[in-house]
Amino acid sequence: MGSLVVSKSRTCIQHLCTPWVANPLYFRPALACLPQQNIMHAVRLIINPHTQYYSTKGDKQGTEKGFTPRTRRAFPNSVFTAGTAKRTAEYLKKRAGVDTEELSPLRARGSVKVALPDHPLTPSEWAKFKESSSKPERFEMQIMEGLLATNADVNIAKSLLAYVVQDKGTLSYELLLRYLTLCVSGGHHSEVFDTYDIMRTCFKTLDTGASSLFIKGFSQTERWREALVVLEGMKKALRPSPRNYSDAITGAALHGDTETSWRLYDELLELGLVPNQDTWQCLFQSGITQQGHEDKLFSVLSYMRDNQIYPEEPLIKTIKAWFESLPDQKWNGKFSYVVPSGECKNCKASLESIQLTEEEYAELKDKVMKKVIEGSDVFKKTTTEELNIFKSFVKQRPPFDIVIDGLNVANTTPKATHSETLLAVVLELEQQGLNILVLGRKHMLQPSRNWDRQNMNKIKQKAHCFFTENISEDDPFLLYAALHSGVHCNFLSRDLMRDHKACLPDSATRRLFFKWQRGHQLVISHYVPGKRVRFQRISAYDTIVQTSGSSWHIPYDENRGDRATYEVPQKWLCLTQEH
Ligand SMILES: [Zn+2]
Repeated sequence: MGSLVVSKSRTCIQHLCTPWVANPLYFRPALACLPQQNIMHAVRLIINPHTQYYSTKGDKQGTEKGFTPRTRRAFPNSVFTAGTAKRTAEYLKKRAGVDTEELSPLRARGSVKVALPDHPLTPSEWAKFKESSSKPERFEMQIMEGLLATNADVNIAKSLLAYVVQDKGTLSYELLLRYLTLCVSGGHHSEVFDTYDIMRTCFKTLDTGASSLFIKGFSQTERWREALVVLEGMKKALRPSPRNYSDAITGAALHGDTETSWRLYDELLELGLVPNQDTWQCLFQSGITQQGHEDKLFSVLSYMRDNQIYPEEPLIKTIKAWFESLPDQKWNGKFSYVVPSGECKNCKASLESIQLTEEEYAELKDKVMKKVIEGSDVFKKTTTEELNIFKSFVKQRPPFDIVIDGLNVANTTPKATHSETLLAVVLELEQQGLNILVLGRKHMLQPSRNWDRQNMNKIKQKAHCFFTENISEDDPFLLYAALHSGVHCNFLSRDLMRDHKACLPDSATRRLFFKWQRGHQLVISHYVPGKRVRFQRISAYDTIVQTSGSSWHIPYDENRGDRATYEVPQKWLCLTQEH
């Protein structure tokens, strides 16, 4: 260690501080930053965590929780190659369900094509290696990114850091952050702790990237409570992400503190964040091992119902296992599907109808008119004047059977121009004898390659048309026209109108809105120019989490990302109680 003399202390300060200064929102260099000691300290910690620096650091929290250097020893090499089988199994279990793609934005750049050493190198070996590099100025970063992308032995990364410090007298923040990413994704807990000590010594606050990595890193270890401290620190500057909460919740649950998991979960909801699948997975999992949170878990299912969220495959399996684990309730889960008439193939029960009752429809219309149409914030992209013109336009015409989101529908296929596609759709619906409203933008009336004047004239002959200012938002017009026309009126759009659910005052109204949407929204399922336009059929039953008390039906996604936003899952979990 003695050979690692750092002489350029002034450059050090500058170097260490530059990235934070460039990003002043999150960073403030600590006043007491002593670069020389810090870098020496840093490298010693990184290279040999057994040095006296642990005790001289006065790691109070660590001592309180009984973390002696002995229990905090580094994993020897990679966790995969050198850990015990048990540790590897535990690590894999913790990593299961963790989306490493989201671990850090830095990882996305990890596709570096550079030769990597397969064992730690000495500083002189690194120096020689660097000489052969085509981009010596990016050498360290490229190697570190390469190590990260291949999940390489952490000791190679350590030897690289040692070389960089010897060569430059400092470590750049970027390099340290990538090293941290490698440690967290590889489950090298001791190295994560060391990097934490370094960063806490050098910097008063941590940025989002480092904070997120520490939350994840700590959550996997006995020091999981420190993830909560990092989360608290993060909250002072900005809103943590659902992923940050997920990691912290997982940390608490994995260590048996379910109360803390639920407290964090409530906090997440209070912040208006949408929990992710991993969070629920972890909570249902903890419900299997620890009884007593049944009400909370049933409220998670209600949340999914209210917000039209569907569990993905790993989660649905855990939900099934949780139900079946409930003592004395005799739940029996089967994966099933629903026939077009709305009957569950497994238990033969009828699912909730997609049709709204008259009362429900009246309530929805009232709320949407008040909140979405009249609501001030939604119409900031249009004017009251334009809205009033539109309202009298609608009132002067007989109720429409179908309202078309013209711009959205015109974009269906690249094989035809926009106006050709829109005309084909209008002609198809006109043949069905429907009274049609096409909503469009003024720019569609300017003849261009996509917007042929003759096609537009034909559309205007076959349908009522209203063209808004080019900057106006279409959805409120569409909702107004459809709801004003009555319960029989459908609309055609590929858009899911997600923004509007946020404007609706309560979960009951949001649920009605989803239901109305699924029961009234048509989507083009197939269109080849010159052939008939085909529409996706509106389902008879409602695809939503539902219960009758003695049964539950939960639609779920079979493959993540396989479903378009306007589609609903086809697979169901059917849960029934034995009598
Ligand atoms: Zn069933």
